Amino acid sequence: MSSALIIGVTGQDGRLLADLLQSHGTIVWGASRKGTLPPELASVLPVPAIDLRDQGSLVEALTRARPDEIYHLAAQTSVERSHTEPVATAETTGVGVARVLEAARQVAPRARIFIPSSSEIFGVPAESPQHESTPIRPTSPYGAAKVFAQHLARIYRRRHDMFVAVGILYNHESPRRPSHFVTRKISLAVAAIARGEASSLPLGNLDASRDWTYAGDVVRAMRLMLQHHEPADFVIASGQSRSVRDWCEIAFRRVGLDYHDYVESDPALWRPAEEPPLVGDATKARTLLGWQPTVSFPELVHLMVDADLARGSHHVDGDRA
Ligand code: GDP
Repeated sequence: MSSALIIGVTGQDGRLLADLLQSHGTIVWGASRKGTLPPELASVLPVPAIDLRDQGSLVEALTRARPDEIYHLAAQTSVERSHTEPVATAETTGVGVARVLEAARQVAPRARIFIPSSSEIFGVPAESPQHESTPIRPTSPYGAAKVFAQHLARIYRRRHDMFVAVGILYNHESPRRPSHFVTRKISLAVAAIARGEASSLPLGNLDASRDWTYAGDVVRAMRLMLQHHEPADFVIASGQSRSVRDWCEIAFRRVGLDYHDYVESDPALWRPAEEPPLVGDATKARTLLGWQPTVSFPELVHLMVDADLARGSHHVDGDRA
């Protein structure tokens, strides 16, 4: 039986991936900052606490698990926060990848490794949609850290002959998304309004758009990348740009309401510089991996609203992706 170590197993993608790998019979080890795992992850084997700033903790985790596959999903994930915390972002999202790759080179050099990059590497994009060869020119510290991570993955392939695959991921959402992301903010608010516990939803720019995919589809792509015969970079995206307004319209309609009656524009929530929308072209993943999204945009909105309605008002959102 094969085994996998998920670094960052308690985040949105980590949890979904743990479920997926276990459904395929893989033994899953999970690394988190605390070293203990929540009850929902009882079937995941814990390794000692990891700190992406501490090489020794990564070596120890890998020595314990000796995995066939490593999925590195731990990072600072907020683009906006990276502008106010550039040093911490560089440390975790950028240099953290160097530490993981170095630890793997020492302890598990034959393991297949997945490293997540991001659409943020394209910044103000040179073309639309973007693909694997679109020029890289990030406009956020987060994007810059991801560029470093992605280049390092390529260097380890070349210099050390290691199997390091890279997913250039666009926004991906699920009921596990933390509430500081707009999609979850909307689904939580719609559920609260439907229950009569809230009466309005303040948002920033409703015309901002993103290429949104269901996170469950994205983690499926990660697994497929490590099953491919050689490591490569793959854009993983829906190929469609949808606005925050589209999201609101469908989410409120799900509970029989009109978003115009609840959504308020709050100037404080507008981003100082909104970049042009990014849209990904996942032709390579479709052709070489046989991957494509299974959940459409309206289905994704419904899935998130339904999950927050089912959770009830006592739900406390403590997840971090
Ligand atoms: P990001 O792509 O990682 O920044 O993901 P977010 O979910 O935080 O933001 C997606 C888009 O939603 C951005 O273009 C935001 O400007 C826009 N947006 C509009 N209103 C809000 C809001 O109230 N909160 C957040 N987080 N984003 C908002």
